[in-house]
Amino acid sequence: MASYDVIVIGVGSMGSAACYYLAKSDVKVLGIEQFGIPHENGSHAGQSRIIRKAYFEHPDYVPLLERAYHNWKQLEAETGTQLYFPTGLLYAGKADGILIKGVKESARQYNINIETINHTESKNRFPSFTIPLDFEILFEPNAGFLTPERCILSFTELAIKAGATIHTHEQLVSWKQDGSVITVQTTKQTYSCKKLIITTGAWTSHVLPNMQPQLSVTRQVVVWGTPQQWDNFIQRNFPCWLIDDAQQPGMYYGFPILPVSQIGGSIGLKAAYHYPGKPTDANRVDRTITPTEETELVKSVRQYLPTGFNSIHLSKICLYTNTPDENFIMDFLPENNNVVVAAGFSGHGFKFASVVGEVLSDLALKGETTMPIEFLNLNRFNK
Ligand SMILES: Cc1cc2nc3c(=O)[nH]c(=O)nc-3n(C[C@H](O)[C@H](O)[C@H](O)COP(=O)(O)OP(=O)(O)OC[C@H]3O[C@@H](n4cnc5c(N)ncnc54)[C@H](O)[C@@H]3O)c2cc1C
Repeated sequence: MASYDVIVIGVGSMGSAACYYLAKSDVKVLGIEQFGIPHENGSHAGQSRIIRKAYFEHPDYVPLLERAYHNWKQLEAETGTQLYFPTGLLYAGKADGILIKGVKESARQYNINIETINHTESKNRFPSFTIPLDFEILFEPNAGFLTPERCILSFTELAIKAGATIHTHEQLVSWKQDGSVITVQTTKQTYSCKKLIITTGAWTSHVLPNMQPQLSVTRQVVVWGTPQQWDNFIQRNFPCWLIDDAQQPGMYYGFPILPVSQIGGSIGLKAAYHYPGKPTDANRVDRTITPTEETELVKSVRQYLPTGFNSIHLSKICLYTNTPDENFIMDFLPENNNVVVAAGFSGHGFKFASVVGEVLSDLALKGETTMPIEFLNLNRFNK
C-alpha cells in the first residue's frame, strides 16, 4: 500500500492550491481528483472569477484577501503567467443595501481605496451602464478577475514539479482512521496517510455525510452574449461589475469580454446572478437551461447594460455549495486533528484559493495557522 504524509481529496480550486503548498513544504503528498484537471462539472469552470478586497460579505475576510492577493502575485511570478487582471470593479446599489453598506464598511476598517462616483461621472467613465438614479455607485480600482482554470493548472503543475503525485480520474470511495493511520480507498487503489485534506466542493456531503445539514448545492446559470458594439465591452473599456438589484434578493455581476485567443474559454460578454439557484445534487445535475431561465437572467441584466446582450450564444451551469450563513468552512473535523475540511464556499470562494491552500497546508502540517480563520469554524453551526 503506497503511503503518504498527506492525501488531498479533490484537486479543484482549493485542493490544487493545497497540493502546491504541501509539495513546497517537502512532504510526500498525493492529490486525488475524480475528473480531469480542470473540468466543467464542479464550481471552478467558466474562464473568470472576480477578486475584490472591500468585502461586502464581512470585513473579517479582508486579512485573508490581503494574503490571497500576495499569494496570487507570487504564483504569477513563479509561473511567469498572468493570472490576475486588474480591471477595477464597479459596484452599484441602494445606499442602505448590503452591497454598498458592506463595501464601505470593509473599506473604512481596512483603509481600502474606493472611489465614490456620481451619476454624471459614471456616464462618462462607464457609458455602457444605465444605473438607476437612486443607486449609489462605487469603484474599487484594485479589483479585477482571476482566470480559474489557469490558476488551478499552475498550482497543479508546480505541485508536481515540487514532488507531489497527482492522480486524475480516480474517485475517493471511503476512508477510515485507525489510530494515527488513515486508510484511503479509491476506485483504483488503497493508500495510507497521516493527514487527510478534504476539498471536494459540491460533493462534500457525499464524502462527509455528517456535514449535509450545513451544505446545500445549487445550480447557477451563467450566460455569454454578443453586445451591440463589441469594443465597448473589451477589457480596456469595461470593468468587472456587481449590482445589488433592488427588486430581487441577490446581485447581478459580470466581466469584460476577454481575449479568448490568449486566455481560452468562452467568447463574449459574461454575466450571472449571485444568489443561490435551484437546489441539486452534484451527481445528478440537470445542465439543460430552460429558455425561461436564460430570458429572466438576460432581462434583468439588460436593465443595467441595455446594449450588452443583443443575443446570447452560450449558457452553462456551475455549482455553488452554500452554508446557512454563506461563510466558508475551514476546520479540522470535530475531535480529529488529522482530517481538515475546506468547503461551503457559497459562490464566493475562488479568489481565496491561494490563501486557503496555504492555510490547509499549515493546518495539516503544523496543526495551526497564523491566518484569522476562527469565524469559519464548524462549531458555529452548533450554537
Ligand atoms: C457561476 C459561478 C461563479 C462564481 N464566481 C465567483 C467569483 O466571481 N469570485 C469568486 O471568488 N468565486 C466565485 N465562485 C465560487 C468559486 O468558484 C468556488 O467557491 C470555488 O471554485 C470552490 O472551490 P472548491 O475547491 O470547493 O470546489 P471545486 O473547484 O469544484 O473542486 C472540488 C473538486 O473535488 C473533486 N471531488 C469531489 N469529490 C471527489 C471524490 N470523491 N474523489 C475525488 N475527487 C473529488 C471534484 O471533482 C472537484 O474537482 C463562483 C462559482 C460559480 C459556480
